[in-house]
Amino acid sequence: MRETSKPVVEKVAIIGAGPGGLATAIALRKQGIDAHVYEKAREFRPVGGGLGLQSNGLRCLDAIEPEIADTLKCSGCQVKRVTVKTSTGETIRTTETTMMAKYGQPFLTIWWWRLQQILASALPPEVIHLNHRCIGFEQNENTVITHFENGKTVAADLLIGADGVNSRVREILIGDGEPQYLGSMSWRTVINYNKNNNLLPPNEVILMRGEKSILFLLNLGEGNMYWGARKVLSDSSVSSTAAEVKSRVLKEFADWIEPVRKLMEATDAERILEGPICDRLPLKQWSYGRVTLLGDAAHPMSPLVGQGANTTFEDAYELAECLRNFPDLQTVLTNYDNRRIHRTAIIQTRTGEGEKGLDKPTQQTNQQSQQNFDEFRHWLYDYDPKSESRLKPWKEKVVI
Ligand SMILES: Cc1cc2nc3c(=O)[nH]c(=O)nc-3n(C[C@H](O)[C@H](O)[C@H](O)COP(=O)(O)OP(=O)(O)OC[C@H]3O[C@@H](n4cnc5c(N)ncnc54)[C@H](O)[C@@H]3O)c2cc1C
Repeated sequence: MRETSKPVVEKVAIIGAGPGGLATAIALRKQGIDAHVYEKAREFRPVGGGLGLQSNGLRCLDAIEPEIADTLKCSGCQVKRVTVKTSTGETIRTTETTMMAKYGQPFLTIWWWRLQQILASALPPEVIHLNHRCIGFEQNENTVITHFENGKTVAADLLIGADGVNSRVREILIGDGEPQYLGSMSWRTVINYNKNNNLLPPNEVILMRGEKSILFLLNLGEGNMYWGARKVLSDSSVSSTAAEVKSRVLKEFADWIEPVRKLMEATDAERILEGPICDRLPLKQWSYGRVTLLGDAAHPMSPLVGQGANTTFEDAYELAECLRNFPDLQTVLTNYDNRRIHRTAIIQTRTGEGEKGLDKPTQQTNQQSQQNFDEFRHWLYDYDPKSESRLKPWKEKVVI
């Protein structure tokens, strides 16, 4: 444990102004560390899909900065029930959400962009550097120098790669190639929420399952809703124009009920985001010298149980805690790796297997190991920064 109040690092460069990079910057700056965020985008724009934030992620955000968690809860939608339906519209089951009762946090659905805005507004504007695409870095015993496409360089004591699934920092640090395709394509968008729509009641999440396909409908609060469709397809190529994207998703969901097709037809083609669902194999080590990884850069995973952003907030909390508590950078980063790699590797492995199982019949998936799945979900959601038991490993081992 640390005996002085002087931070282990003074200056930190964080690559990527996604949820992970921004939450980490907030947590580090609260400790007096001069953390700066470098983002490749030229401006913050209304992009991204809808996300489900769960108790583990919200508890970590709450521990980092309670005001942020409060603002998110006012901005997003606090989900009261989840309904599972078939692609022909028959209800399979409706479940009241118990997250608040069990874990003291709501199941909150929100637009990725609103999440980014709310996090960014908790930082002084001068510490977020837009139009800074990281292209490389080099490190020695005393410093790490990051290079940007715009010709600038920055020296820091620690570099954090929070630059997403196609992380440049990871490419240089680990060099493990491209993300792997998990077998399904995704189309997603955020549109205006019309209360009179006949698909999505307020405060509800709708999950519809069809033949090798799945559709999520989420309320995102502030008059927005999200539809996110996935289908098992061997062809992971992306369409070259917005019109092709739209006609592809309409073709793939042509046998779904009319309200779903109408919803897709009414969506502006330019706003539909198409992409392959990918992850990477878990790593044995995230940190080397003065450089580490966080969020999707460290552990990209299938969105099947909606844990990408949630576990990213866990990373941000734990890295900040290690910086607060341990005496030197090497010990900080070793402990950060130890706290995070086992947990995220389990989630990556299980969700990757689940994503590949999307092409199995629904009934078979439901009946198999429901109890084990419920235990797993409890282990996910019960992650609590206030309790040492959060560092308890999942009962099964994962080979990395
Ligand atoms: C279909 C789908 C549904 C999902 N649903 C959920 C859900 O319900 N719940 C959940 O928790 N998660 C969900 N996720 C996952 C979630 O979106 C991610 O896990 C989360 O956004 C990761 O945050 P991050 O900050 O690590 O990375 P990102 O959000 O990817 O942010 C990375 C940032 O880095 C920037 N960047 C990239 N390269 C560079 C560079 N070279 N230099 C500078 N900047 C760079 C990017 O522009 C971006 O702003 C879903 C994902 C998908 C695809």
